[in-house]
Amino acid sequence: MDKRKRERFKKLLLKEKEKISGEIESLKSDSSREQKELAGGSSGYAYHLADVASDSYNREFNLNLASNEEKILYQIDRAIKKTEKGDYGKCENCGKKINEERLKTIPYTQLCIQCQQKEEKNQ
Ligand SMILES: [Zn+2]
Repeated sequence: MDKRKRERFKKLLLKEKEKISGEIESLKSDSSREQKELAGGSSGYAYHLADVASDSYNREFNLNLASNEEKILYQIDRAIKKTEKGDYGKCENCGKKINEERLKTIPYTQLCIQCQQKEEKNQ
C-alpha cells in the first residue's frame, strides 16, 4: 500500500478513534450515574424490584459495550502504528493483503475476510 493511501487510512482511523473514545466516555458516565441513583435509592426513592433488575442489567450491558469498544480502541491504536510503520493492510494471520473495501468499512481490522470467517467458525 502506498504512503498516500496509508495516510488516508490513518486519518480514517484517527476519526474512528475519536468516535469510539467518546462512546466509551458516555457509556461509562451513564453507568456511573445510574449507580449513584441506585445507591441513593434507600434514602427516599422506592424502587420496584423489576426496575432495579433492569437497571443493573442495563448497567452491565453498558459496561460490556464499553469493554468491547475498548478492545476496538486497542485495535485502532495498533492499526495506526501500522500505518506509521508501513505494514498496514496486511492480514495478521496469513500475511496477505486485506481487501481495501473491507478496510474502508473496518479500518482497524487485523484479518482478511477469509481468516476472519475461519476465526468466527472456530469460536
Ligand atoms: Zn488472512
